[in-house]
This record gives sequence, structure tokens and C-alpha cells, in this order.
Amino acid sequence: MTETLSVVEPATELELAAIPRAGVEQADAAVARAKAAYPGWRAVAPGDRAALLRRLADRVEEHGEELAVLEARNAGKPIADARGEMGMVADTLRYYAGAPERLLGDTIPVAGGEALTFREPLGVVGLIVPWNFPLVIASWKLGPALAAGNTVVLKPAELTPLTAVRFEAIALEAGLPEGVVNVVAGPGSVCGRRLTEHPDVAKIAFTGSTEVGRGIAAAAAQTIKRVTLELGGKSANVVFADADLERAAASAPMAVFGNAGQDCCARSRILVERTVLDRFMEALEEAVEGIRVGDPLDESTQMGPLISAARREEVASFVGPDAPVAIRGSAPDGPGFWFAPTVLCPVDNHDRAAREEIFGPVASVIPFEDEADAVRIANDTIYGLSGSIWTRDGARALRVARAVESGVLSVNSNTSVRVSTPFGGFKQSGVGRELGPHALEHYTEVKSVYLATEPA
Ligand code: NAD
Repeated sequence: MTETLSVVEPATELELAAIPRAGVEQADAAVARAKAAYPGWRAVAPGDRAALLRRLADRVEEHGEELAVLEARNAGKPIADARGEMGMVADTLRYYAGAPERLLGDTIPVAGGEALTFREPLGVVGLIVPWNFPLVIASWKLGPALAAGNTVVLKPAELTPLTAVRFEAIALEAGLPEGVVNVVAGPGSVCGRRLTEHPDVAKIAFTGSTEVGRGIAAAAAQTIKRVTLELGGKSANVVFADADLERAAASAPMAVFGNAGQDCCARSRILVERTVLDRFMEALEEAVEGIRVGDPLDESTQMGPLISAARREEVASFVGPDAPVAIRGSAPDGPGFWFAPTVLCPVDNHDRAAREEIFGPVASVIPFEDEADAVRIANDTIYGLSGSIWTRDGARALRVARAVESGVLSVNSNTSVRVSTPFGGFKQSGVGRELGPHALEHYTEVKSVYLATEPA
């Protein structure tokens, strides 16, 4: 009998779908299909592979509204955000459609002949993704993997498999050959684990928690798999006294509470220069109270529920009776895994709320004394994914951006991700980069070929 995976809608706590639950056998079958499809896919002429990826992007756009509604309901994210994410899926596939014809090699001067380099695909790549941005994070891996000529087995998170399952069908509809894109929806500890151990999988591209990432790196080592890891974060949003405080305060809440705080880039440590702390907190309170928390399918909603009851319990553990709650927004009652946006102030950087990735709508405001203090606090974490610097002093902005140990930084802005720029972590936030041209390096091997040309 086939086992089923019950998929719950976080805003209602009701079952949204029940789908077949993949286990080791299905993971093995998917790897076998991907392995069989690999020689054919890598042999597709670069221009034709590019055309297929563009067609795939077109099909995602055609199904955009259906996919956005599915993602909004399954992940509990506001529909406007889900539409934006589906737009990024299409943009990412289109961006990497430019790659097959641009995977250039080198010619290297050597004695007695010619040396050439080629960028070769790896083979079957396992893609393991989390539930917070299900399809868009998958697309950051699918784009470069497929463009370089690899075939893939995608394992979505068991809480949010629905858009990945649709994507597999859409890929076939777009004309990608059978077996190039394979989806296995099953538990990480069974299905995901099998992919990390499978001898026919050449690489694992993983996004998820630092804890699971450690296990994946260890399991992959047994077969010397290539591994890229996009892991957790505890990013600093540094606000200097000379900044446009109103803009910084208006932007800070959604930089933490966007996606209900379930965002690896969440700027959950808001570092504020002590001389302007009171002014900043006043403006922040106004902004937090204005956040519209509610039904993900309502066009005006800015924040939905958390993904599960377990997540809500974990987030609540940071807001116990001793927590310095300074601001509390509102959230609906009734069914749904709701949690009101919450700001703690003042927080010491050694407190648990400042050290652990809360992955929910809880921000910590940490006062600092001067530039050196701000950099010290920003770097006092095991993570290094993202961050922001708010100041009107251009030289300081660049100085601090260079000093903060983090893969992505924004000045006077809280954005982290663009299709064309590299994204990834320093320290325990990960290994490797996604997006931009840099991602392609992680889905190819360099081959060196020497051709003797001297007459015998
Ligand atoms: P998770 O680590 O629990 O799960 C991620 C994926 O790994 C899921 O598909 C899960 O089924 C699978 N998995 C679990 N155990 C496994 C195992 N033993 N072997 C193989 N696969 C396994 O993470 P999550 O709770 O789904 O997502 C939240 C985490 O993801 C947060 O820590 C967040 O910071 C991180 N994240 C990072 C980025 C980034 O780009 N750096 C982006 C989004 C989320």
C-alpha cells in the first residue's frame, strides 16, 4: 500500500492535500531515471538546451497564478509575496538559459602542444530544499544545474511539496526529456538521507538548517560528493545615528517579519546606535503596529501564519515572562499558526534571542556605542549570511561592509537576493554561492585536456 503525506494549510490547520509519500525505493528509482537521462541531456546542443530552459520559464509564467496560490496556501505566505516568488522562478530559469552557450574554457600556453579546459557537468545532482521559500529556492539550484547539463532529483520539504510536484509536470510539458527533472516528496530523514548517501548522486545542493547541513556534509563525505550548503542566519541590521532613521525604522520590520520571520536572511538583530535608540524605537513601533497579519490569500496581507504548531511553540519559547517585550503587533485568533510580530529591547548579544536563529517574527534590538562596537557585535555570531548598514557616510558604509563577516550586505536597504548577484554564507551559514554567474562553478567540473602537436 502506498503511504501518504498529509499536507496541511497553516492558515486553517486543515489538510490541503494528501500525496504519495516517497521513501528509499522511490528515491532510488528517481536517481535511476536521472542517471538514465543524463547522457542524452548533456548531449543536447547548447542552443537547444537554452531554448528548453526559456520554454520552461514561459510555462512557469503561464502557470504562475496557479503556482502562487498553491505556494501561498501551502506555506502560509501572502499571495503578493508568492506571486513575486513565482516571477523570480521564471527569471532565474531565463537567466540560466543564457549559460549553456557561455560555459567557456581556457587555452593555456604549454610546451609541445596545446592545453584546453572544459566545464563538464557533474551527472545526477540531488537538490534538497526547505519549506520557507519552496519553489524559488529550488529554482536557484535547478537553473544552473540544468543549464550545465546535469539531471536532477529534487526533494522538497515534507511540509511544502506541492509546487515541486507541479513543477515536475510543467517541465515535461515544456519539452524537457523524461528523467531530467525528478521530484521525490518524502521525509528528509529517509528520502533526503538516501540522496546524500546514494553512490550515483554526484552532488547535493542543500538549503536548510545548519544542524541538518552538518549531517549532510558528513554523509556526503562517504562518497566524496560535491556539496553546497545554504544554511541559517542571524543577520545584523546596523543603524547609525546619522542614518535616515525614519526610512531605516520603516524598513526594519518587514526585514524580520517578512515570510513571518521564517527567512534565513531575516535581519533579526537590529543594532541601533545608543544616542538615537529612543527615536528609532518610536518610529519602529508605528511601523510594527501597521503590519497587516492575516489570510494569506487576502491581497493586502503582509504577514501570514507560521508553518506549523511546532514552529509556533519554538518561537514562543523566546518570548517567555522574562523577555523584554517592547513592541507587540497583532495577529488573528482562531485556527491557524499565528504569532504576533514582536520586538525585544534592549537585548544583549549574549542572550539566547540574539544567538539563535528564531525563525519566526521576533526581532531583537541591541544598542551599540560606536562603529567598532557595531562591527564587533555584528560579527559575534556563528552565522554570516546577510545584513544591512544604514548611514549617510559613504566611507563608513563601505568600511563596515568590508568588516562584517557576511556573504551579502546592503547599504540603506534591506534586500539580499537578486538573480544576477551571488548569494551565500560566511562561517556556519554555508558553503558555496547560488545565483549569478558564480553558481555555475558549483554545478560543473573543470577538465584539462592536453593535445600534443609537435611532429613525431
Ligand atoms: P531543515 O534543515 O529541517 O530541512 C531542510 C530540508 O532538508 C528538507 O527538505 C528536509 O526534509 C531535509 N532533511 C532533513 N533531514 C535530512 C537528512 N538527514 N538528510 C537529508 N535531508 C534532510 O530546514 P527547514 O526547517 O526546512 O528550513 C529552515 C532552515 O533553512 C533555517 O535554518 C533557514 O535559515 C534555512 N534556510 C537557509 C537559506 C539560505 O539560503 N541560506 C534559505 C532558506 C532557509
